Amino acid sequence: MTPHVETSPERMPMKSREVIGAAAAAADTPVPARYQESLRYMNRARRVLPRGAGSAARVARRPTPLAMQKASGSRVVDVDGNTYLDYVLALGPHFLGHNPPFVLEAVRDQLDRGVLFGAQHAGEAELAERICAMVPSVEQVALTSTGSDAVHAATRIARAATGRRRIVKFEGHYHGWIEPLYVNVPGVPPGEGAGPLPVVNGIAGAPPPADVIVCRWNDVAHLREVLATAGDSVAMIIMEPATCNFGTFYADPGYLAEVRALCDTHGIVLAFDEVITGFRLAPGGAQQVLGVSPDLTVFAKALASGFPIAAVGGRDSVMSIASRGPLQHVGTYNGNAVSVAAANATLGYLQTTAATLYPQVNAAAERLADETRKIAESLELPLIVNRTGSVLQFLWGDGSPVTSYPQAWACDPEPVADLALELLHRGVHALERGLWFVSTSHTQADIDLTLEALSAALAQVATAHQFR
Ligand code: PMP
Repeated sequence: MTPHVETSPERMPMKSREVIGAAAAAADTPVPARYQESLRYMNRARRVLPRGAGSAARVARRPTPLAMQKASGSRVVDVDGNTYLDYVLALGPHFLGHNPPFVLEAVRDQLDRGVLFGAQHAGEAELAERICAMVPSVEQVALTSTGSDAVHAATRIARAATGRRRIVKFEGHYHGWIEPLYVNVPGVPPGEGAGPLPVVNGIAGAPPPADVIVCRWNDVAHLREVLATAGDSVAMIIMEPATCNFGTFYADPGYLAEVRALCDTHGIVLAFDEVITGFRLAPGGAQQVLGVSPDLTVFAKALASGFPIAAVGGRDSVMSIASRGPLQHVGTYNGNAVSVAAANATLGYLQTTAATLYPQVNAAAERLADETRKIAESLELPLIVNRTGSVLQFLWGDGSPVTSYPQAWACDPEPVADLALELLHRGVHALERGLWFVSTSHTQADIDLTLEALSAALAQVATAHQFR
């Protein structure tokens, strides 16, 4: 019997690069029978939800954006009943895999005792104490619900603490979708020349904010030049200390220490956005790996195994504007007891297992990256696999290393998106933009299966792109 095949109504040109990877979902890919329930769901959802999704970042998927029915550990199952090895992991939160039993147990226990009180509860202080214990630069913690919200809090805190307005961010770094930092995000072309880069707003129709300065990352001369004139008006320099939203690599040795010194010279608050890297790269996040201490840190994804909670924390000298000063940090859902219970269970587990857990998950990710490089080499493909800890980035370059935003931009997104499609057909769920998250629930057998799928999928991509 011929399988029923429909065409996905997603009509996004392959070459377009919408911000945050919402692009690339191709138009004309036929939708095979095995994805028809997802397609049916999306056709219904598009009538009532923007792009048929809770987040536009989830619809960059051929042959159709998927609708899921359940997940457990390293596996996710779609509404058609297809099971995938999952390297999307909800864009990062499931560092411990889907539904760790001890997190669910803590959540169930809390559900019986209340969700939200509009008053304090013991879990909040316990969580803040855990964060302070795991991340030595943090002495006070403010709880929020999302990463964007926590970045916004960091901006408010830095501005209030310094009495200045300007913020320095770096091209290609992503700090959530709240203005003013939603500028020069991944998907916006790299800037040129010396001095501050043009501020390019990623929000259609919105004028770029005047008080944001964009610099090239990993380029200390560029930053020094900008601060020589603007330094005394800058409240905060914010960065992803290990970039995970483009390229996935560490800065050159010494760069972060120089940025730290420049902040000290100019009285600027240094903020690390560790929404992805916090509690994932190490118990103390990227700052522990890199040995540089920021004034403020933003945490979210790996903090609570998928429950909505985020935090901004930092030195008492900066946070005191909120703890003892005039800035009032407020929010109805801040400290939601269920999310806090999930965060305490997650961090408690990380604290007690850190000595073995981090080396194991990083080794699994390293093996996946190394073996994938070997497969690509054997097929003579210009595939680059960058890695920071358990986060991987697949890039289709010219064979040379990718350690800057312009270099990442110059890579071809199409074969990487095609690889994700081929992998999907072979039971592996990975983002079209080539960003992979490995969890502690991915076993060696899972990695073996993934490598088998990668081998076949890369051969298919090689043929399609006539690399052989
Ligand atoms: N900062 C970084 C580094 C992120 O990766 C993200 C989300 N991908 C955010 C901030 C925003 O977090 P959220 O989506 O929870 O608002």
